[in-house]
Amino acid sequence: MITEKQRKKAYQVDFSVLPLSDIVAAQASASSHVAGILGMTQDQAAALLRNFKWNKERLVERYMDHAQEILDKSGVVLNDVHTPQVKRPRGFVCMICFDDSSAGPAFGLRCGHVFCQPCYEHYLRQKIVEEGECRRILCPETGCDVVVDEPTIKKVVPAAVMSKYRQLQDRAYVSDLDNLVWCPAPNCEYAIECRLSHSSFTTIVPTVTCDCGHKFCFNCTLDDHQPAPCGLVKMWKKKCADDSETANWISAHTKECSKCQSTIEKNGGCNHMTCRKCKYEFCWVCMGPWSEHGTSWYNCNRFEESSSADARDQQAKSRASLERYLHYYNRYANHEHSAKLDRDLYTKTEKKMEEMQRTSDLSWIEVQFLKRAVDVLTSCRMTLRWTYAFAFYLARNNMTELFEDNQRDLEVAVEALSELLEKPIEREKIAELRQQVLDKTVYVESRREVVLEDTAKGLADGRWEFFVDFNK
Ligand SMILES: [Zn+2]
Ligand SMILES: [Zn+2]
Ligand SMILES: [Zn+2]
Ligand SMILES: [Zn+2]
Ligand SMILES: [Zn+2]
Ligand SMILES: [Zn+2]
Repeated sequence: MITEKQRKKAYQVDFSVLPLSDIVAAQASASSHVAGILGMTQDQAAALLRNFKWNKERLVERYMDHAQEILDKSGVVLNDVHTPQVKRPRGFVCMICFDDSSAGPAFGLRCGHVFCQPCYEHYLRQKIVEEGECRRILCPETGCDVVVDEPTIKKVVPAAVMSKYRQLQDRAYVSDLDNLVWCPAPNCEYAIECRLSHSSFTTIVPTVTCDCGHKFCFNCTLDDHQPAPCGLVKMWKKKCADDSETANWISAHTKECSKCQSTIEKNGGCNHMTCRKCKYEFCWVCMGPWSEHGTSWYNCNRFEESSSADARDQQAKSRASLERYLHYYNRYANHEHSAKLDRDLYTKTEKKMEEMQRTSDLSWIEVQFLKRAVDVLTSCRMTLRWTYAFAFYLARNNMTELFEDNQRDLEVAVEALSELLEKPIEREKIAELRQQVLDKTVYVESRREVVLEDTAKGLADGRWEFFVDFNK
């Protein structure tokens, strides 16, 4: 029987966290399988698979008819006696450094382009370390498209560069597979596997949590942005980048041309405005055409003129849409800012708690309730923040009211918890405060779940209507 606790919530997705060793093992297992079928070494099979985005079936099928072409493209030389290191031929001149001495090793591929060891190493190091190349490194000779095979690379470069090369291969493996992604947290070496199809991400927000603690979106790898779908997030971020810095300023200092809607800045006292784009001349005060104002003097008595009334109408509409945007944007931005303030406050409180723990009989566990409260608070603020972007694009229907009620309930709960954390901590009242904070934390979490559950179900059922199609 499935109990309530085990049942997956509508806003949760199945995923697993894979350590680097699993990624390495997965490549080894796939290449050993293919090596068995095609009769080659595991390293050679791996090189071929890398060029087929690890699609075993497609590789094996294509290999039947185009073996040599595939081998060449992947830089695989099946011949066992292949050795890249050559004796410097008589009259050898390295075409990179023009060294013509006969001492020291030189390397060349089957194309016959031979270069001295230091030049070859420098070239490969550049490709691997600087350019991050690990798929197809070509012969240093300009225009030659023979791929440098892995045994050659191994012979030429030092161990540190080779390990960088392996690391790049692991990165490439994960990015080649649709169901794998690296955790984007700095220095984190875990990959996440999620088997949902990419087409489902228009109606599911695939938030995953890495073992390092980082919570992010499997699809776009941005920080968790539930309940807003990836497409909406992308559109909103773009809008904010384009608009926010200037939006406040615009609302105070500019108007839109009533002919072409381009934004016009008033940079002097004169009310005779000329649109830079369409050359329309109008009056800043009444938005009416300047032609009706007389030419040499300022005359604005045509207030009831229908042309200026229409223009003001246009202006009002455009202003209203800006005001609407600012309404949502300010709330969106405010939660981000508040989350930072909550954290700052916590850092201060934490010191106090530690001190209290030292000077009183409180245990370490007993002073942890604030940390958990701040963590919950932060994630709730992030959720709230995205509910505002969500709401901005949401078309009003009979479902929106419920959404707004849920949003408000979460917001009220969040602010109450936030306020509680600002209370001065007194030794005598700590047990009382602890209970209050614990209760509020549980409550806030439950409100967050209501918001996430309702929005996720609505997305899955197609219950929400949006102004824009952000899945294009
Ligand atoms: Zn050289
Ligand atoms: Zn060559
Ligand atoms: Zn991680
Ligand atoms: Zn996303
Ligand atoms: Zn204009
Ligand atoms: Zn006027």
